Amino acid sequence: MIEDLHYPGHLESLMELLRTLPGVGKRAAERMVLAMLKWDTEKQSTFGRLMLELHENVISCPECGAIAEAGKRCPVCGDSGRDRSCLCVVEDPQQIFAVEKSGTYHGLYHVLGGRLSPLSGNNGENMTTEKLLERASRPECREVILALGADVEGRATAVFLAELLKKCDVRVSQPALGLPAGAGIGYADGATIAAALAGRKEF
Ligand SMILES: [Zn+2]
Repeated sequence: MIEDLHYPGHLESLMELLRTLPGVGKRAAERMVLAMLKWDTEKQSTFGRLMLELHENVISCPECGAIAEAGKRCPVCGDSGRDRSCLCVVEDPQQIFAVEKSGTYHGLYHVLGGRLSPLSGNNGENMTTEKLLERASRPECREVILALGADVEGRATAVFLAELLKKCDVRVSQPALGLPAGAGIGYADGATIAAALAGRKEF
Protein backbone atom coordinates (compact mmCIF):
# COMPACT_ATOMS: atom_id res chain seq x y z
CA MET A 1 0.00 0.00 0.00
CA ILE A 2 1.29 3.46 -0.90
CA GLU A 3 0.64 5.57 2.16
CA ASP A 4 0.86 8.98 0.59
CA LEU A 5 -0.80 8.44 -2.76
CA HIS A 6 -1.37 11.62 -4.78
CA TYR A 7 -2.99 12.49 -8.06
CA PRO A 8 -0.55 13.86 -10.64
CA GLY A 9 0.41 17.46 -9.90
CA HIS A 10 -1.64 18.80 -12.81
CA LEU A 11 -4.84 17.32 -11.39
CA GLU A 12 -3.99 18.45 -7.86
CA SER A 13 -3.54 22.01 -9.18
CA LEU A 14 -6.91 21.89 -10.93
CA MET A 15 -8.57 20.65 -7.74
CA GLU A 16 -6.93 23.42 -5.75
CA LEU A 17 -8.32 25.98 -8.19
CA LEU A 18 -11.84 24.57 -8.14
CA ARG A 19 -11.83 24.55 -4.35
CA THR A 20 -11.56 28.33 -4.37
CA LEU A 21 -15.08 28.46 -5.88
CA PRO A 22 -18.04 29.04 -3.57
CA GLY A 23 -19.61 25.85 -2.26
CA VAL A 24 -16.90 23.55 -3.66
CA GLY A 25 -15.17 21.40 -1.07
CA LYS A 26 -12.36 18.87 -1.40
CA ARG A 27 -14.57 15.95 -2.43
CA ALA A 28 -16.60 18.00 -4.94
CA ALA A 29 -13.42 19.37 -6.55
CA GLU A 30 -12.05 15.83 -6.82
CA ARG A 31 -15.25 14.59 -8.49
CA MET A 32 -15.26 17.52 -10.94
CA VAL A 33 -11.65 17.02 -11.98
CA LEU A 34 -12.08 13.27 -12.44
CA ALA A 35 -15.14 13.95 -14.58
CA MET A 36 -13.16 16.47 -16.66
CA LEU A 37 -10.51 13.83 -17.14
CA LYS A 38 -13.10 11.72 -18.96
CA TRP A 39 -14.09 14.57 -21.32
CA ASP A 40 -12.97 14.12 -24.91
CA THR A 41 -10.11 16.29 -26.12
CA GLU A 42 -12.44 18.70 -27.89
CA LYS A 43 -14.45 19.43 -24.76
CA GLN A 44 -11.28 19.90 -22.72
CA SER A 45 -9.93 22.32 -25.35
CA THR A 46 -13.20 24.29 -25.43
CA PHE A 47 -13.13 24.61 -21.65
CA GLY A 48 -9.51 25.75 -21.70
CA ARG A 49 -10.17 28.27 -24.47
CA LEU A 50 -13.25 29.73 -22.76
CA MET A 51 -11.27 30.23 -19.56
CA LEU A 52 -8.36 31.76 -21.47
CA GLU A 53 -10.60 34.23 -23.29
CA LEU A 54 -12.75 35.07 -20.26
CA HIS A 55 -10.68 38.08 -19.34
CA GLU A 56 -10.81 39.73 -22.72
CA ASN A 57 -14.42 38.86 -23.59
CA VAL A 58 -16.26 39.60 -20.36
CA ILE A 59 -15.87 42.87 -18.46
CA SER A 60 -17.62 45.03 -15.87
CA CYS A 61 -20.01 47.49 -17.52
CA PRO A 62 -18.10 50.80 -17.55
CA GLU A 63 -21.30 52.55 -16.50
CA CYS A 64 -22.88 50.44 -13.76
CA GLY A 65 -20.44 47.62 -12.99
CA ALA A 66 -22.74 44.80 -14.15
CA ILE A 67 -21.42 41.91 -16.22
CA ALA A 68 -20.99 42.98 -19.84
CA GLU A 69 -19.46 41.85 -23.11
CA ALA A 70 -16.11 43.46 -23.86
CA GLY A 71 -16.40 46.80 -25.61
CA LYS A 72 -20.08 47.18 -24.74
CA ARG A 73 -22.25 48.49 -21.96
CA CYS A 74 -24.42 45.91 -20.16
CA PRO A 75 -27.87 45.11 -21.66
CA VAL A 76 -29.65 47.31 -19.09
CA CYS A 77 -27.49 50.41 -19.66
CA GLY A 78 -27.68 49.81 -23.41
CA ASP A 79 -31.50 49.66 -23.38
CA SER A 80 -32.90 53.06 -24.34
CA GLY A 81 -36.29 52.09 -22.89
CA ARG A 82 -35.06 52.04 -19.28
CA ASP A 83 -36.06 54.72 -16.82
CA ARG A 84 -32.87 56.77 -16.39
CA SER A 85 -34.21 58.74 -13.44
CA CYS A 86 -33.82 55.82 -11.04
CA LEU A 87 -30.72 53.95 -9.82
CA CYS A 88 -31.00 50.71 -7.85
CA VAL A 89 -27.82 50.10 -5.82
CA VAL A 90 -26.91 46.42 -5.36
CA GLU A 91 -23.87 44.76 -3.92
CA ASP A 92 -23.04 42.20 -6.61
CA PRO A 93 -23.80 41.81 -10.33
CA GLN A 94 -25.73 38.57 -9.70
CA GLN A 95 -28.33 40.51 -7.71
CA ILE A 96 -29.30 42.34 -10.89
CA PHE A 97 -30.44 39.03 -12.39
CA ALA A 98 -32.65 38.41 -9.34
CA VAL A 99 -34.26 41.86 -9.52
CA GLU A 100 -34.72 41.63 -13.30
CA LYS A 101 -36.44 38.27 -12.90
CA SER A 102 -39.04 39.93 -10.70
CA GLY A 103 -40.00 42.07 -13.72
CA THR A 104 -41.06 45.01 -11.56
CA TYR A 105 -38.10 47.35 -11.85
CA HIS A 106 -37.44 49.39 -14.99
CA GLY A 107 -34.68 51.77 -13.92
CA LEU A 108 -30.89 51.45 -14.01
CA TYR A 109 -28.54 49.71 -11.59
CA HIS A 110 -25.35 50.49 -9.78
CA VAL A 111 -23.10 47.66 -8.58
CA LEU A 112 -21.31 48.64 -5.41
CA GLY A 113 -18.79 45.81 -5.55
CA GLY A 114 -18.52 45.50 -1.78
CA ARG A 115 -19.91 46.60 1.56
CA LEU A 116 -18.78 48.27 4.72
CA SER A 117 -17.50 45.81 7.25
CA PRO A 118 -15.76 47.75 10.02
CA LEU A 119 -15.17 44.60 12.09
CA SER A 120 -13.09 42.99 9.37
CA GLY A 121 -11.34 46.27 8.60
CA ASN A 122 -13.19 46.92 5.33
CA ASN A 123 -14.04 50.59 5.25
CA GLY A 124 -15.47 50.58 1.78
CA GLU A 125 -12.30 51.33 -0.22
CA ASN A 126 -13.35 48.64 -2.69
CA MET A 127 -16.78 50.14 -3.27
CA THR A 128 -17.59 52.15 -6.39
CA THR A 129 -18.80 55.09 -4.30
CA GLU A 130 -17.26 57.84 -6.44
CA LYS A 131 -18.95 56.57 -9.59
CA LEU A 132 -22.27 56.28 -7.73
CA LEU A 133 -22.08 59.92 -6.59
CA GLU A 134 -21.17 61.02 -10.10
CA ARG A 135 -24.18 59.17 -11.56
CA ALA A 136 -26.54 60.39 -8.83
CA SER A 137 -25.46 63.99 -9.55
CA ARG A 138 -26.60 63.84 -13.17
CA PRO A 139 -29.64 66.00 -13.93
CA GLU A 140 -31.77 63.04 -15.08
CA CYS A 141 -31.29 61.14 -11.81
CA ARG A 142 -34.21 61.59 -9.39
CA GLU A 143 -34.09 58.56 -7.09
CA VAL A 144 -31.49 56.18 -5.66
CA ILE A 145 -32.81 52.93 -4.14
CA LEU A 146 -30.42 51.32 -1.67
CA ALA A 147 -31.28 47.65 -2.19
CA LEU A 148 -28.70 46.31 0.24
CA GLY A 149 -28.97 43.43 2.69
CA ALA A 150 -30.97 43.82 5.89
CA ASP A 151 -28.10 42.52 8.06
CA VAL A 152 -25.82 44.76 10.15
CA GLU A 153 -23.23 45.32 7.41
CA GLY A 154 -25.86 45.97 4.75
CA ARG A 155 -27.54 48.51 7.04
CA ALA A 156 -24.23 50.21 7.87
CA THR A 157 -23.41 50.48 4.16
CA ALA A 158 -26.84 51.95 3.39
CA VAL A 159 -26.53 54.56 6.16
CA PHE A 160 -23.05 55.50 4.92
CA LEU A 161 -24.26 55.92 1.32
CA ALA A 162 -27.42 57.81 2.32
CA GLU A 163 -25.23 60.32 4.14
CA LEU A 164 -22.98 60.81 1.09
CA LEU A 165 -25.97 61.08 -1.26
CA LYS A 166 -27.31 64.07 0.69
CA LYS A 167 -25.12 66.30 -1.46
CA CYS A 168 -26.87 65.04 -4.62
CA ASP A 169 -30.32 66.33 -5.47
CA VAL A 170 -32.03 62.92 -5.32
CA ARG A 171 -34.60 61.02 -3.29
CA VAL A 172 -32.86 58.22 -1.38
CA SER A 173 -35.10 55.24 -0.69
CA GLN A 174 -34.95 51.62 0.38
CA PRO A 175 -37.19 48.62 -0.23
CA ALA A 176 -40.02 48.84 2.31
CA LEU A 177 -39.84 45.17 3.24
CA GLY A 178 -36.09 44.77 3.35
CA LEU A 179 -34.23 42.32 1.17
CA PRO A 180 -32.62 39.08 2.31
CA ALA A 181 -29.20 39.74 3.85
CA GLY A 182 -26.01 39.82 1.81
CA ALA A 183 -25.88 37.57 -1.20
CA GLY A 184 -29.31 36.22 -0.19
CA ILE A 185 -30.99 38.51 -2.68
CA GLY A 186 -29.29 36.54 -5.42
CA TYR A 187 -31.26 33.48 -4.35
CA ALA A 188 -34.54 35.12 -3.37
CA ASP A 189 -37.41 34.32 -5.67
CA GLY A 190 -38.83 36.94 -8.00
CA ALA A 191 -42.03 37.39 -6.00
CA THR A 192 -40.10 38.23 -2.80
CA ILE A 193 -37.99 40.81 -4.60
CA ALA A 194 -40.97 42.25 -6.46
CA ALA A 195 -42.82 42.70 -3.15
CA ALA A 196 -39.77 44.28 -1.53
CA LEU A 197 -39.21 46.74 -4.36
CA ALA A 198 -42.87 47.56 -4.99
CA GLY A 199 -43.16 49.53 -1.77
CA ARG A 200 -40.31 51.93 -1.20
CA LYS A 201 -39.81 54.18 1.77
CA GLU A 202 -37.72 57.27 2.24
CA PHE A 203 -34.34 56.48 3.73
ZN1 LIG B 1 -24.48 48.79 -17.13
